[in-house]
Amino acid sequence: MQAGVIAVQGDVSEHAAAIERAARAHGEEADVVEIRQSGTVPDCDVLLMPGGESTAISRLLAREGIDEEIRDHVAAGKPVLATCAGLIVASTDAKDDRVDTLDLLDVTVDRNAFGRQKDSFEAPLAVDGLDSPFPAVFIRAPLIDAVGDGSGAPINDGDDVEVLARWDGDPVAVRQGPVVGTSFHPELTADSRIHDLAFFETVEVSSQ
Ligand code: GLN
Repeated sequence: MQAGVIAVQGDVSEHAAAIERAARAHGEEADVVEIRQSGTVPDCDVLLMPGGESTAISRLLAREGIDEEIRDHVAAGKPVLATCAGLIVASTDAKDDRVDTLDLLDVTVDRNAFGRQKDSFEAPLAVDGLDSPFPAVFIRAPLIDAVGDGSGAPINDGDDVEVLARWDGDPVAVRQGPVVGTSFHPELTADSRIHDLAFFETVEVSSQ
């Protein structure tokens, strides 16, 4: 399995380690490639969009022409896990002109809704499909404040947005078609279950 980690900016190595760990647990080998330029995404089976700074990430994706490749990847039904800033970039609306969103997930996000760095925290989170709480690390995390409001995610038009987890009533993990987005950072814990949810279930289903 070729796994591409979007590496224009953000916490790349943690995602690389997490997908390798998750693949091993499924008896697979993840061949991880870091993506800084166009031309590689079309060879990837799965993509990871890390946390970092969404304004910088979206600007660099557009400059390198990687944005369209990611959209094509999703249009082909191939899985993506987008975390934190990655979720912001994957949304349809980040309510901030400096973020050119990719419209992969029909959600509106509130950047830095959880406050600044000092407001980062870890909490056990109930996630649909997991039989025990996930240790969710929130770092200057976005909140999802509207889901499938009709503003449209053209790529996933036929798929509903499914809320997988909420914090204080607001969605913090969602799935739409092949794309899973989380406000928190599953790559920063040893627990690979979010990567499992995002990749291995989808990959197994699509390869049958
Ligand atoms: N709040 C940051 C942004 O707007 C994201 C923070 C993160 O990825 N940890 O890009």
